[in-house]
Amino acid sequence: SGPKKEDLQRMMELMDGFKASKALFTASKMCVFDLLQSRPGLEAEQIAQEIKASLKGTQCLLEACVSLGLLRSKDHKPMYENTDLATRFLLSDAPFSLHGYIQHCNSTVWPLFSHLESAVQEGTNQHDKAFGKKSKDMFQDTVYYDREVKLRFMKAMHSIAKVTGKAVATAFDLSSFKTVCDIGGCTGAMAYEFTEAHPGLSVTVFDLPAVVDMSEHFTPQHREHRVSFVAGDFFKDDLPKADLYILARILHDWPDEKVDILLKRISDACRPGCGLLLSEIFLDEDRGGPCRGLLQALSMSVGKQRSATEYSQLLKSHGFITAHVRHTDNMLDAMLCIKE
Ligand code: SAM
Repeated sequence: SGPKKEDLQRMMELMDGFKASKALFTASKMCVFDLLQSRPGLEAEQIAQEIKASLKGTQCLLEACVSLGLLRSKDHKPMYENTDLATRFLLSDAPFSLHGYIQHCNSTVWPLFSHLESAVQEGTNQHDKAFGKKSKDMFQDTVYYDREVKLRFMKAMHSIAKVTGKAVATAFDLSSFKTVCDIGGCTGAMAYEFTEAHPGLSVTVFDLPAVVDMSEHFTPQHREHRVSFVAGDFFKDDLPKADLYILARILHDWPDEKVDILLKRISDACRPGCGLLLSEIFLDEDRGGPCRGLLQALSMSVGKQRSATEYSQLLKSHGFITAHVRHTDNMLDAMLCIKE
């Protein structure tokens, strides 16, 4: 008998996945969703004029976005408006906007993945081929050397942290802690979620000077918060004193020897009873998923993705006992460990 319909459909989805991603990235970069939010019901010709694109290209992009569930035609006429999904995630100023992360995927992840074959053959990231730059330290060499690239990266981190922050901040009872240091806390997006969720907490964000310099661009308005920033290098400088340290999306970026240096420095800064809250994608114990974590590993950063058990063992070797593990329904999982 012939191939099953659902098998063929799955294969088509896999083969066309990159086209769907690029259509989303392009519509987002050309601000189609922001435009249709302020002026719902525009026709293709008006949209083409506004985004300074050809009519034919714009029509194809709009129709593709309709088929992907991002736009719909208004009143069954060739007039377009955002779907709820686009309104929630694709407007540049939506509370859970993924716009920043999508721009990062388009400008950084896409070029890296276009060299995937070499990445697999060599087992190394392809920054030199994609951007003409070798990277020893991904952040200092390839992201923070240029103001525009740095801001784009910070917006990407900010958007993911805003979407995931509440789930991580509310994953555990943190009532026994008062002072928190978010190591590599970037724009403070996660820190603001922690102070919002826990009125007794104050958070110091510790990140490189290049990042802390730009932190005021991301300060939430109309919100009382207890978040401060300290600039430094977590491999060299004294870590701010705290009774809970957060490591969100940090360890997967570094090779084992650097991970050990960082964890030793945190462990040395901790008294018994201090906490370490780790947030990462936790791989399934059989490494069969989730897809997001395994696909991320293909970017061949010098670090690696781990399961909850692997993280627990790693942290135990630095004197932290895992108290709770939480697989959230959000994009990041979390683990709370206590210093022995
Ligand atoms: N924790 C944030 C989050 O979950 O959104 C940001 C994660 S981002 C992948 C890694 C962060 O580590 C960046 O903000 C980067 O600037 C910071 N970082 C990298 N190297 C650092 C270093 N040597 N010292 C301090 N921060 C560093």
